[in-house]
Amino acid sequence: MTLKKIEQGRLFLAENPALFRCPFCHSDVKQQAYSLSCENNHRFDLSKKGTLFFLKQNHQSGYDEEMFLPRGRLIRGGMYQPVLTVIRQWLGAQEKVLDIGCGEGSFLAELENIAKIPLTVGFDIAKEGVYLATNHNNLAQQHFWCVADLTNLPFADNSFQRILNIFSPSHYQEFQRVLADEGELIKVIPGKEYLKELRQAFYPEEKAKQHYSNEKVLEKLAEKMTIVEEQQLTYSFAIPETLRLDLLEMSPLEWGVSQERKAFLREHPLKEITIDVHLLRAKKK
Ligand SMILES: [Zn+2]
Repeated sequence: MTLKKIEQGRLFLAENPALFRCPFCHSDVKQQAYSLSCENNHRFDLSKKGTLFFLKQNHQSGYDEEMFLPRGRLIRGGMYQPVLTVIRQWLGAQEKVLDIGCGEGSFLAELENIAKIPLTVGFDIAKEGVYLATNHNNLAQQHFWCVADLTNLPFADNSFQRILNIFSPSHYQEFQRVLADEGELIKVIPGKEYLKELRQAFYPEEKAKQHYSNEKVLEKLAEKMTIVEEQQLTYSFAIPETLRLDLLEMSPLEWGVSQERKAFLREHPLKEITIDVHLLRAKKK
């Protein structure tokens, strides 16, 4: 019999209280029944879905189910499979993995489809994504989802051997704090050609919006951490017919697109899309 989500959450907290710390006063937390609390009486209660909410208030990220669901279907549909294969190799047999900006959790779930990971924690600032993530049922026993802010992580120092940071912002000071001394950050950032057909389709008149540069992101990573390996992957993904409309809804790229243009693209969806990404492994400086 599978446990209810809230019971799974309680068990995880009972077994791993030392992974967490209070995000408000930074002191240790203790697990009691369905909560974590600190000596200053900051208390975090498990939701029915077995998640914890570590923010002072709900954050409007702009990401909602309308974006998370199509994105998840594309990830599970194989759009990032070559990327995930490399990441899974880089994770090796490491025990504790933190996914920063996990969204609806499909990247982590797909990584575990390749090979199970002993313990995973995924968080996102968008509650909608984290709730959806709790629906994945292929994960190893030790996994936990929460809502948190990447600039003030609710995790104890040196807690994770690997941090995943896939298409999401960084806060290197916090990453290095929660990363174990020999741990590694695995970061995935878009390359110049990433989703280029979609950019061109969305903004045919605006050359500036068709281009993306990751130079600043790379410079900042190199300044804050020691890059130990870099790989660029570029390939064309043939989009299965049932997922072609999902591509139009999966990213913030669509936010500025006119309704007329979108209607046109729904009639004439893209059949192929370029995936061009940089994968980086970095250690603490
Ligand atoms: Zn506290």
